[in-house]
Amino acid sequence: MTQLAGVSTPEVLTEALRRRTFAVISHPDAGKSTLTEALLLHARAITTAGATHGKAGRRGTVSDWMAMEQARGISVTSAAIQFEYRDAVINLVDTPGHADFSEDTFRVLSAVDAAVMLVDASKGLEVQTMKLFEVCKQRGLPVITVINKWDRPGAEALDLMDEIRERTGLLPTPLTWPVGIAGDFRGVIDRASHEFIRFHRTAGGAKTAEPERLSAAVKAAEEGAAWVTATEESELLAEESQDHDEARFLANETTPVLFAAAVLNFGVQHILDTLVDFAPAAEAREDASGGHRPVDSAFSGFVFKVQSGMNASHRDHVAFVRVCSGQFKRGMIVTHAASGRPFATKYAQHLFGREREVADEAWPGDIVGLVNASALRVGDTIFETEAVEYPPLPMFAPEHFRVVRSADSSKHKQFRRGIDQLDHEGVIQVLRSELRGDQAPVLGAVGPMQFEVVEERMTHDFGAAIRTEALPYQLARRTDRASAEILGHDRQVEVLMRSDGTLLALFSTPWRLRNTVRDHPELMLEDLATGS
Ligand code: GDP
Repeated sequence: MTQLAGVSTPEVLTEALRRRTFAVISHPDAGKSTLTEALLLHARAITTAGATHGKAGRRGTVSDWMAMEQARGISVTSAAIQFEYRDAVINLVDTPGHADFSEDTFRVLSAVDAAVMLVDASKGLEVQTMKLFEVCKQRGLPVITVINKWDRPGAEALDLMDEIRERTGLLPTPLTWPVGIAGDFRGVIDRASHEFIRFHRTAGGAKTAEPERLSAAVKAAEEGAAWVTATEESELLAEESQDHDEARFLANETTPVLFAAAVLNFGVQHILDTLVDFAPAAEAREDASGGHRPVDSAFSGFVFKVQSGMNASHRDHVAFVRVCSGQFKRGMIVTHAASGRPFATKYAQHLFGREREVADEAWPGDIVGLVNASALRVGDTIFETEAVEYPPLPMFAPEHFRVVRSADSSKHKQFRRGIDQLDHEGVIQVLRSELRGDQAPVLGAVGPMQFEVVEERMTHDFGAAIRTEALPYQLARRTDRASAEILGHDRQVEVLMRSDGTLLALFSTPWRLRNTVRDHPELMLEDLATGS
């Protein structure tokens, strides 16, 4: 890791340089939870990973993390885990995954500086991985690829490299290369040092296995044909210029690749080393005017996630802030850029749960949770003295649509207030039209689980139970007033306005959209894919 020389280096620069803030992007079941646990294990945050990795018996819930926090002094929120590794401070920001896919997940990617793309060796690049990858690409986030579950039968390593190249457009530059096919995993070649890192099975993967590095003579003798194949393939990669190149990695042209078996703790330490050695530190962040806010200017940060009711007894409203510049000190009075109002940060925390850990300070790259911050919305900037505003967070193309009504017509006021609040928080997109009126707006979601959150919050936080009804639309395109007029004659298409003023034309099928474009090439129907 780069170190700044000299004793006069401002602390904030040293601290920012130590930070590595990243998220894991993957399809459900690729092993994200298992990897998270293994990363913490390797960072010596915990001593034993959960002995059973079945869903039921597995650790890794917030409450388990809390216990880990108390025992080991690592810092946990439901949004991020912080731990030290070597001389770095690593912030692993959680992407709420599960089977769902919500806007929340996308927004998290605005708070990180790099992503680890976790791929199941037998499945390759799956749907959600690709969706998340697209966001990383758009945001210019460097991506480290980890091929997981190499202990099981899977695809050929070279085929996986081809798939990555074709589907992501990034040139894979493997840092390690497997010896033995998937399912007959002997270990990996460290392509930088040419050493063989032998794979050791430990009982249930419950202990950190120190990687065993062996010399060329030993490995050739012991691994025979598998070794020969692996070295030949590795040389082939070198001939194709598929060696790690830091500048090209940071320019989003290449992706370093590691082979791992997270459940057996193999390859995990190498992931941490790769983050520390190659992933970018917290750096100057682009603001809304296109300038860059240096990390050593006064404190600033932006809200990338807002969560309410995390603690049942407190009914909190917590705003998670990514620190972009300066030192955050608990108690400091900051300015809320959107309103110009002062905001006291008395209640800041790293840890969430019954026992809260107060966050006394944080540095660029860190994540802080601000409690009772109901004035703060997703995308909002806060700063200490030198005014700054970060660009608004992108809204994504909704793919699921439901009409929402109050279950009890006497609760219309509560209904309205609740829907507006959830709209502001970015829980869901609220779409309206004169035709549908105020009593029955349309909710647009990126992932269907967002509807459940709305139902839950409307009932419990706003005392307005709702009824929803699915609409047969699947995709949305941005349109303008003139096109909306024409589309208004088509019974199969509906145009609605989002609260940011964008007009969305909703279509039931891609086929229907294609026909409309064919019949009316003059219409404005723009892709909303991401970022608008
Ligand atoms: P998530 O949904 O991405 O969080 O995935 P999990 O961490 O829950 O893992 C899904 C399943 O894959 C679990 O049964 C894990 O035990 C298993 N798994 C994770 N990593 C590996 C691995 O490296 N090898 C094998 N064989 N199984 C793994």
